[in-house]
Amino acid sequence: MDNFGIKDALNQLGIKELNEGTSTGSQWFANGDIIESYSPVNGELIGKVKTSTKDDYEKVMQKATEAFKSWRLVPAPKRGEIVRQVGEALREKKDALGKLVSYEMGKSFQEGLGEVQEMIDICDYAVGLSRQLYGFTMHSERPMHRMYDQYHPLGVVGTISAFNFPVAVWSWNAAIAWVCGDVCVWKPSSKTPLCAVACQNIITEVFRKNNIDEGVSCIVTGNACGDLINNDHRIPLVSFTGSTRIGRHVSKTVAERFGKTILELGGNNAIIVSEHADINMVLVGAVFGAVGTAGQRCTSTRRLIIHESIYDKTIQALQNAYTQLSIGNPLDASNHVGPLIDKGAVQDYLNAIEKAKSEGGKVIVEGGVLEGEGYESGCYVKPCVIEAENSYEIVQAETFAPVLYVMKYSTIEEAIDMQNNVPQGLSSSVFTTNMREAELFLSHAGSDCGIANVNIGTSGAEIGGAFGGEKETGGGRESGSDAWKAYMRRQTNTINYGKELPLAQGIKFDF
Ligand code: NAD
Repeated sequence: MDNFGIKDALNQLGIKELNEGTSTGSQWFANGDIIESYSPVNGELIGKVKTSTKDDYEKVMQKATEAFKSWRLVPAPKRGEIVRQVGEALREKKDALGKLVSYEMGKSFQEGLGEVQEMIDICDYAVGLSRQLYGFTMHSERPMHRMYDQYHPLGVVGTISAFNFPVAVWSWNAAIAWVCGDVCVWKPSSKTPLCAVACQNIITEVFRKNNIDEGVSCIVTGNACGDLINNDHRIPLVSFTGSTRIGRHVSKTVAERFGKTILELGGNNAIIVSEHADINMVLVGAVFGAVGTAGQRCTSTRRLIIHESIYDKTIQALQNAYTQLSIGNPLDASNHVGPLIDKGAVQDYLNAIEKAKSEGGKVIVEGGVLEGEGYESGCYVKPCVIEAENSYEIVQAETFAPVLYVMKYSTIEEAIDMQNNVPQGLSSSVFTTNMREAELFLSHAGSDCGIANVNIGTSGAEIGGAFGGEKETGGGRESGSDAWKAYMRRQTNTINYGKELPLAQGIKFDF
C-alpha cells in the first residue's frame, strides 16, 4: 500500500498508532474505550482512537463554553481572518488529507482531494461572509423610532457527521459557525475517526499561532457522545448529518429541550431521462451518480426514470457503460469504483438486491461481492442495475450502495410524480433539451426536493448554494446562500429617540 504514500500522509497529518486526547493543545479529551480504524481499501488497521468518556465530554464542554465568551467578542472580519488561515493550512495539507480520506473512507483519491477542496472553498466563502452578516432595517410606524434586526452568535454548535464525507461536512459547519461567532464541538463518525483527528491537528496549529482559545474548535469521540450532545442544553444548535433513522431520534431529543437542529439526512435521488435528453450527457451523469463513491453519497443517483420511447436504447447504453467500469483500489486513479465502508454495508447491499428481486425486480446488470487479489478487505461490490417499480418497498428506502433502479414513464407529469413519490427529498434532476419540461420540473408543480437540476446529475453540489433537502431528508440547509442564519440568533431592535412614548397600533394608555 505504501507505494501510494499512506505512511507519509499519516506522518504529515500527525496521526499516530494510538491517538488520544490531550489536555494541552487541541481541545479533545479521550480516556475511554478504543476505536480501531480499519481501511476498507485493504482491510488493514490504520490507527486507533480513544473515545471520550462522560467526564471527558464535560471537560470539553467547559472549554467550549468558556471559549465562546471571548470568541463572540472578536469582530466578525477578524474571525474571518482566522478562517482564512485555516483555508491556507488546508491547502498545504491537501494532498495528505485527501489521501487519508480516500484510505479511511474508501472514496477515490480524486474525490478525497475534491472533499478537501470543498473545505478550502467554504473557508474562502466564510471569509467574505464575515463582512456580510446582514440584518434588515425597517420603517417604524411610530415617529422618531428606528427599527432593525441584527444577528448575534448562538453559542456552542454541536456537529455530528456521517462517515461518507468525513471532513467536508464538518468544515461546512465549522467555517460558517466560526465567522458567525460560535464555537464548535464535533463528534465525527466512529467509522472515520482519524480524518477528524487530522483536521483537529491542522486547526490547532492555526489557533495556537494566533493565540486563539482552542476551545473554539473541539472534538469528542465515540458514539455515546451523540446523546450527550442531543441532551445538552448548553448546545443551542445541533447540526446532524447522517441516516434518517438516527436523525429522527436526534430531532426529537433536541426539540424536547427546545434546541435547534440542522438535519441533513438520507436521500433517494432520481434522474428523469426525457425523450428530449442528450443521451451522452445522461450516461456520464447517471453512471457517475450511481457508482461514484460506490453509491455512498447522500446525493447518489438511486433511481432512473426513463421515457418509454427511449427506454431500451438507454438501458443498452447503460449496460455497455457498466461493463467498462473498473473496480478496485480507490487510490489507483485507473479505477472508477472503490469499496463500501465495511462488511455491514456489503450485507445491506446484498439484502437490498434480494429484496428487490423478491418484490419482482429484474436484474439488468448483475451485482455481487468481489473476491481474490486486491479485494481482500471484503468490501468491494459490483455496481448493479435493477428494473423495478417505484412503489416497491426497497425502492422507497435509501440503500447506501451502488444499486440503481430503472423504471419507465410516459408523460413528464407522471415522471415528476414518480420522482416525488418517495419519503426523502434531497436531490433530483431532469435531462431534457425541451424548455417546457425543464421549467415544469423546476416549477412549484415540479420536483419537491431541496436540490433540482437540469442537465446535471443528482450527485454533488457547489458550496455557494444552500445544501439540504425536504421531507425525511430533514429540511436543514448548510453551506452557501443564507444558510448562515441558522448559526445565529436574530434580534429585532426598536429605538425611540423622541421625547414621547407612543404605543404601537395607536393604543392609548393615559393615566
Ligand atoms: P449514521 O446515521 O449511522 O451516523 C451518523 C452519525 O450519527 C455518526 O457520527 C454516528 O456516530 C452518530 N450517532 C449514532 N448514534 C447517535 C445518537 N444516538 N445521537 C446522535 N448521533 C448518533 O449515518 P452514516 O452511516 O454515518 O452515514 C450515511 C447516512 O448519512 C446516509 O443516510 C446518508 O444519506 C446520510 N448523509 C446525508 C447527507 C446530507 O447532507 N443530507 C450527507 C452525508 C450523509
